[in-house]
Amino acid sequence: MAPPPLTELISMEPPPSTSQIQQQETDVAEPFSSWGRKTEATWFAAAASLALVLICPVWIVGNWITLEYFDGSLSSMVSTAYSDGISSFTYQYAPRPSMKSSFGYASWLAFQAALYSLLPGPISTGQLTPAGNLLKYKTNGLLAWMVTHILTVVAAMSGVLDLALIAKHWEGLLIAVNVYGFLLAGFAQIKAHVAPTHPDDRKFSGSMIFDFFAGIELNPRFGELWDFKLFHNGRPGIVAWTLIDLSWTAFQYQSYGYVSNSILIVDLFHTIYVVDFFINEDWYLRTIDMSHDHYGYYLGWGSVAFLPTIYTLQVQYLGRYPVDLTFNQAIGVLSLGLGGYALFRSANHQKDVVRSTNGQCTIWGAKPRYIRCRYRTDDGRTHESLLLCSGWWGWSRHANYLGDLMQAFSMCAVCGFDHLLPWSYFFFMAVILLHRILRDEERCSKKYGKNWEQYCSQVSWRLLPTIY
Ligand code: NDP
Repeated sequence: MAPPPLTELISMEPPPSTSQIQQQETDVAEPFSSWGRKTEATWFAAAASLALVLICPVWIVGNWITLEYFDGSLSSMVSTAYSDGISSFTYQYAPRPSMKSSFGYASWLAFQAALYSLLPGPISTGQLTPAGNLLKYKTNGLLAWMVTHILTVVAAMSGVLDLALIAKHWEGLLIAVNVYGFLLAGFAQIKAHVAPTHPDDRKFSGSMIFDFFAGIELNPRFGELWDFKLFHNGRPGIVAWTLIDLSWTAFQYQSYGYVSNSILIVDLFHTIYVVDFFINEDWYLRTIDMSHDHYGYYLGWGSVAFLPTIYTLQVQYLGRYPVDLTFNQAIGVLSLGLGGYALFRSANHQKDVVRSTNGQCTIWGAKPRYIRCRYRTDDGRTHESLLLCSGWWGWSRHANYLGDLMQAFSMCAVCGFDHLLPWSYFFFMAVILLHRILRDEERCSKKYGKNWEQYCSQVSWRLLPTIY
């Protein structure tokens, strides 16, 4: 008699004890379902996508108007818009494009593209895609970041460049990044239809709006290595992040004759985050952005327009309206931010190391506990993966997000509580990460089936034990 299938055996057995987990192997999710991005968009998803495409650019422009004309007060900005009427308000306050800023931004893109293409770097491997493709990437981001910053500092010290240049041209740059972001999202859409890099990894939802927002291609490329995602997510936006900080810090100095402790603390937090990103660029290839999100407006416009404007709101605010923290406030915010970073890095590292060593490592000084599970790609092949059940991943299923939220909170807290606007980054991160938890768990459940349920029953908290 043929033995019963493994899935049946599992359902007949009592739940595994903790010590059993490490040895357990189960069947792939049955019935098999593709675990990539959704292939059907509800009317709500399409409507929400349209709303985000229209609202996000208005949001970032509204922030600039608030900082430039209303002392950072969103309520004053909104009440003026209401009393003036939208058309007259827009005519009076909307940012104007400038040739200088547009040319500067185009040169910036070209410079980063040249560094990305020409600088040497190790060849790293991403994550298996739902269709079964395994892509290679040149990870030279740290070198690109260093070259860019060294050149900037040398140019500033030799008097060739005003460090506050970006801050002084923020208005024109806001237009330039938006225009490029929309062009990029439009181009990605056309390319997905006429010249896809990996046709089998495309996803169509039946809604053009949802496809524009969420993207069709998973990893659009020029040639073998020139990857749209890694370049745009990693270079023009993230390399610029610390340059923008530097520029608004110089702007504060030029405007007030001193540099506040609050802006220096934000600079420190951002620099740690950015340098960590580049040191661990290889790890980034196996995160959700790179391995699961498709390339459309969300990632394209998001990385070139949203990231450099919303993620730097604190320095834009402090550069104009300095806040001086007391010693105790500074220590409190530094402790929370650095604690958040330690949690973020340690959790991300644990997941990466347990998988890259196939479980042959130690987590918190002990052998890791994990579920060895199998999943299938669309080409019918079966693969193995590990779900870590100890360390941070045994404490909560998304402890790395908690670390990120602690950092985001600290970055905003240095701006004080007078205005809501500099807190936008924290609210955005809270929404995006809470939503990501839900959509990631839905995908993992499709990918790993019973093994995911088993993991969830072992680790019942999503973010913070006893709360959520
Ligand atoms: P994760 O790094 O948490 O990756 C989630 C994936 O990890 C899952 O889809 C699954 O993928 C795998 N996984 C889930 N549970 C386990 C487990 N127990 N053991 C091993 N693997 C597991 O998510 P993100 O990519 O969203 O985030 C990466 C980092 O980036 C986080 O620290 C986050 O805070 C940060 N982030 C920052 C943002 C920003 O704008 N500043 C935005 C979003 C994220 P699979 O099994 O398919 O490999």
